[in-house]
Amino acid sequence: MKRGLKWAIIVVSFVIIGSALFLENWPPFGGSVSGERLKRVQASPRYHDGKFVNTHPHPPLEAEDVWGYLTEQLFGDQIRVPPSAVPVLAIPPAFMKTRPAPGLRVIWLGHSTVYIELDGLRLLIDPVFSDYASPVDGIGPKRSHPLPSATTELPKIDAVLISHDHADHLDMRTVQHLSSRGSRFFVPLGVGAHLDEWEVPERQITELDWWESAKMGGLTIICTPAQHYSSREIFDYKATLWSSWSVIGPRHNVFYSGDSGIADHFQQIGDRLGPFDLGIIKIGQYGPGASWIYSHMDPEDAVRAHLAVRARRMLPVSWATFNIAFHDWDEPITRAVKAANAHDVDLVTPRVGELVTMGEPFRSQSWWEEIR
Ligand code: ZN
Repeated sequence: MKRGLKWAIIVVSFVIIGSALFLENWPPFGGSVSGERLKRVQASPRYHDGKFVNTHPHPPLEAEDVWGYLTEQLFGDQIRVPPSAVPVLAIPPAFMKTRPAPGLRVIWLGHSTVYIELDGLRLLIDPVFSDYASPVDGIGPKRSHPLPSATTELPKIDAVLISHDHADHLDMRTVQHLSSRGSRFFVPLGVGAHLDEWEVPERQITELDWWESAKMGGLTIICTPAQHYSSREIFDYKATLWSSWSVIGPRHNVFYSGDSGIADHFQQIGDRLGPFDLGIIKIGQYGPGASWIYSHMDPEDAVRAHLAVRARRMLPVSWATFNIAFHDWDEPITRAVKAANAHDVDLVTPRVGELVTMGEPFRSQSWWEEIR
């Protein structure tokens, strides 16, 4: 072997091993599943050959899919970021003091982050308070609007539900902030390893497999299926589970889709746990080709999912905040409104920070049309 080639191989090997060690040990990228957590992961019927699998197999990645990604990435002319300011309302001061009144109220905080008051408890789903949906601050999708003011001063959140470990759903600094205030975290199998890495006390972590549930303050929190994947860095593809969440209270209940493609699990959730007062359904971040749409519903799929789980009102999420996929920033909501109207779905479109109370009419406005 030529001397130059030998050195090139040595240098490349060092770079690969060095990057692996770096990603493995830098906290924002999370922890590795080991010990008791690994035993529970390995015992899951969804875990095969060292990784989690979906119920339905992933379609093979076609050459034209890859070509589609590349051309869209390089030449796509969509307006992926809002061209002017997205309106953001402040959290109402009344939310800062007392225990929540009985009932179901929600405030969309952008992307998939939603604050929920459900029968006297405070919940957050997929909270990301950071400026970037990325383990590395300053790199990756940047938020297009601020958080509603006072979001980080909300009183203690009782339960934080995490759907999976992608950076636009699970953020180290947000988790540490909520953990320091005593929140309990409900996560799919394996995701607890990231929380361990970030020094969340073990007593505050509940890991569940699909269809497993936990009780808290009168609520039943059920980890329900999704069709997606996970990865925090490049060496942990599908090492942890992904899910949707169903929360059943004494008087109200709510479903959150997580990130998912459309599949028959929505019907199963609707049959077993529906109807729901509210469906919080992902409408954005879909892309070209069967491979992408398998794990990311488009807006029409989202309305189908909403109908399948039998929810009375639909709150669309996973749009407007982080630019991740190849569509206009407002395409998800315009298509979702059209699909919802066609199926007589009560779709609410609050502004970021705007309160929606279940059981009360909500006057949706097409606020995104003002952003030009
Ligand atoms: Zn995801």
